[in-house]
Amino acid sequence: METGPDVPRPGDTLRGFNRRRLLAGLRELRVASRAQLAELTGLSAVTVSALTAELLREEMVVTVEATTARRGVGRPAALLALTARAGVTIGVAFGRRHVRVAVGDLSGRVTAQERVDLDVDGSAGRALDIAAGLVGAVLTRTGTPRTAVVGVVMGVPAPLNWRAGTIGSNNILPGWVALRPAVELSSRLGLPVALDNDANLGALAERAYGSDHVIDDLIYLKVSTGIGAGLILGGRLHRGSTGSAGEIGHIQIRPDGVVCRCGSRGCLETLVSTTSIVDLLQPAHPRALAIADVIALVAAEDPGATRVVTEAGQMIGRAVADLCNHLNPAEVIIGGELSESGTPLTAGIRSAIDRYAQPATARAVTVRTSTLGDRAEILGALLLAAQRAPA
Ligand SMILES: [Zn+2]
Repeated sequence: METGPDVPRPGDTLRGFNRRRLLAGLRELRVASRAQLAELTGLSAVTVSALTAELLREEMVVTVEATTARRGVGRPAALLALTARAGVTIGVAFGRRHVRVAVGDLSGRVTAQERVDLDVDGSAGRALDIAAGLVGAVLTRTGTPRTAVVGVVMGVPAPLNWRAGTIGSNNILPGWVALRPAVELSSRLGLPVALDNDANLGALAERAYGSDHVIDDLIYLKVSTGIGAGLILGGRLHRGSTGSAGEIGHIQIRPDGVVCRCGSRGCLETLVSTTSIVDLLQPAHPRALAIADVIALVAAEDPGATRVVTEAGQMIGRAVADLCNHLNPAEVIIGGELSESGTPLTAGIRSAIDRYAQPATARAVTVRTSTLGDRAEILGALLLAAQRAPA
């Protein structure tokens, strides 16, 4: 599929073939100068110039402001990006307690979005119905016909069986086990849908938007009601042989610990998920706590909450230190609900990496909170939808 734009099709004119290569190149770079497009596609500067003039006239492409990160010597080159007229993408990101839906363009920009809270695991059919309803609502609100949609990607908070298109565990998201989620959503939308893991989508978004320079080796951690990792290795998302790479939530930390929803005992997730943290703090508080209260307590420097979150960071960091020894990443990026607690969590993770990873590996890695917050997964879904769209 990735080689599609580079292969002439029967009946292709040279101009049509080159135009497809240019559009594919612009989709890959998202925002690019004519010179960058020429370099990526191998097309001549004259051809790129003529084709972009044509695409600008058709309003398939717009010129955008150069960002400060690209400021260099002399006048900055005009940058180009695709518009919604070149195609529309849809992202559907399920958490365990909410779903978020967004419409975007082929440059990955969000044009409209919706989010609702719901018990995603309680009834898969109802969650999928609600997601499909939200997609319909945002398409109507933006005046977008379904024929303009070139790709839909949905993210779920569970390991996947990549080949079968199913959830890869009988116990994680049990309400979804008998289903092929992408097929289910596809039949509701009347559009093809691709499925991926939520932390994988967060990792893609962090690589594209998380900082002003591209990082080819990173670990994205989503710490919410569950905990998972998305791995970018050598610039590519690493899903593993069946699709369940990065399931660090089920590394065993305490062999005699409480039984986890996966069936094992003392998994990392049983100790550091947002529900475990709330349970740990609850006895010290007269009214019922939610994770938002814990975040507020940490912000107010409450000693108990700060301690619990710091220790959670240390336990996560112990597992991540092993991952760092294996993978030697440049960045460990903390996302998910608990990332809003900020410094105590990242400091806990940092200290465990410094203690348990090889010194050179620990020195090479930056640990930071996601700059994308709770939008990481939906932005990743839109990016992947754009990448997968036929050229
Ligand atoms: Zn487990």
